[in-house]
This record gives sequence, structure tokens and C-alpha cells, in this order.
Amino acid sequence: MNESPGAMSFLRELGGRWPSPDYVEGSLQKVPAAQPLEVFGNWPIRQSYDMDGGEIVGTGPVNSHSFPAESPEVLQEFFRLFSAFDTPSETGAILSFCERWGGLGYSELRRAEGIKSGSTARTSESRERVADPVTWVKAHVVAAYLASTLLAVVKNEPDANLIDALAQIPRPLVFPAGSDYFSWHYLDDPQLGPEGTRKLLLSAATQLIGPNVAGIHIVPQVDDEAMQVGTTLRFTALIEVIWWHVLKLAESPKLRVCQECRSVFAPKRTNQVYCPPPAYSRGEESLCAVRQRMRSYRNKKSGVESK
Ligand SMILES: [Zn+2]
Repeated sequence: MNESPGAMSFLRELGGRWPSPDYVEGSLQKVPAAQPLEVFGNWPIRQSYDMDGGEIVGTGPVNSHSFPAESPEVLQEFFRLFSAFDTPSETGAILSFCERWGGLGYSELRRAEGIKSGSTARTSESRERVADPVTWVKAHVVAAYLASTLLAVVKNEPDANLIDALAQIPRPLVFPAGSDYFSWHYLDDPQLGPEGTRKLLLSAATQLIGPNVAGIHIVPQVDDEAMQVGTTLRFTALIEVIWWHVLKLAESPKLRVCQECRSVFAPKRTNQVYCPPPAYSRGEESLCAVRQRMRSYRNKKSGVESK
């Protein structure tokens, strides 16, 4: 016997300790020998996205895939849609988001619900069609923004501002949950102290996040490059992954609002005032920091005082 047996010797020791097939006969689920390894965590991007009667419709073949769980910037880009709301650039902003990440997944969520409830009234045409109602997309942007901002308030704001933050939450709070809408009724308690108010704000954020991540499954996956097993998500719709990133924000001890694009992010450094660079970017520098610098440079050149 080795004094400190390594993994290899322990592996040998484990041999012969497996449940005998006799015990489990009848309940045994066979793993197909030649099961193709399914890749999870990707989301299809169609050839084109167009606005059609209040819906964003994805058409044409799937040209590429995004990997939203591995790309936290999908949430930052989703937040940025907010500043385009009700402006002439709204449609363009939403369509270019979809061209980059794929549709938000309203049809896919509906279809998954239909399968669950055993509905068979699905034509092959409806299976092909993917469409997101614009009002539903916008409701998710607002709800994700609200949840993240509430989290930022709880983490950053002094006690004096908490009651005001609570007053900003509509009552009842109606919010999109998956392809549907939920509503949360909560009662005011004038006796709420700062601690109680913080808890209530966190509960509100939790109410918003909860139903939107409920359909996500965790899947272990071989990472060929790193020779490790990593975690990825199996999900029905892109919107679920966006909410999963909101949940990741909630776990962060600190949150900031980007000075340039107003998206909420978890700072990596104490002096970080701009949202982080996207995962695909090789540089360390925030795109928002670059944008801000370019603008102040231009302003200096044209003689306008930069702020
Ligand atoms: Zn930013």
C-alpha cells in the first residue's frame, strides 16, 4: 500500500465496487454506444432579421451560432437597447442585436410550452418561423434593467436613497417571465428599516430573475482545447441566458453603471468606471472608454469644452 495513494491507485481500488447489473435490472437506462456528442450552449443566428408588423422575424437558413453563456457582453448589449427605445434608431438597434446574437427566442419558448402541454396543433410552417414580438423584447429589456439597477442600488446606495428606490417599483409589478407575463404583489410596510428595505429590493430582483432562468439546465461539457470539463447551459431561448447573466451580476459583491452606455456591470478593478471589453476583444480596454476618449478628443479639436 502506498502511504499517500494517488488518483490512479484509487481508481484501481474503485474497480469491482460498481452496482451489479443484477440489482438494477429493469431500471437500467442504456447509453447508446455511438451517441454523437451534442454541443450545447450555442444559439442559431439566421440569415436575416426583419421587422414585420410589430415582430422581429428571423428568416433563411442558420448561418452561424453565438455562445451567449460564454459572452457576458450579451447582457451589456441588451441593456444598451434601452437608450434606443422610442427613437428612430430603435428598430435598427434591435435588428442588429439579433444579427449578432440571434433572436430572443419567443417562438422557441412557445413551442417548448406547447410540447409540454401536449399540444399537437403545430404545423411544419410554424416550426420554421421564429419571431419575437417587439413589445415582449422591450418588456424584457426594461425588466432586466430594473432587476440589475435594483441590485446596484442595494450594493451601492446609502440608506437614505433606499425608500426612493423602492418607490420606483410599480405596484403590482408586472413583468415578462419567459414568453408570458407574471405579476408580483407586495405590501408596503412603513416600519421597514434600511435593512428591511434592502431585503425587499433584493426580493424584487429575485422575483424578476427567478422565472426567467427556471428552464435552464446545467450541462457538463468536454473542453477539447483546455482538456477540461467545463460547464455550459442548455436553454430554450436566448432570453433565458440573458437573465442568467443578470443572476451572475446579482452574485457580484459590487456593481457599477457604465458612465458611457449606462449598462450595469461587475467591476474587476476599484477604479473601473466603464463596462468591460467584450470577450472577443483582444484588448484590455473598454469600448466605452475608447468612445469617451474619441469624443473628448474631437471636442477638443473643435474647441468644445469636454465635460
Ligand atoms: Zn459601457
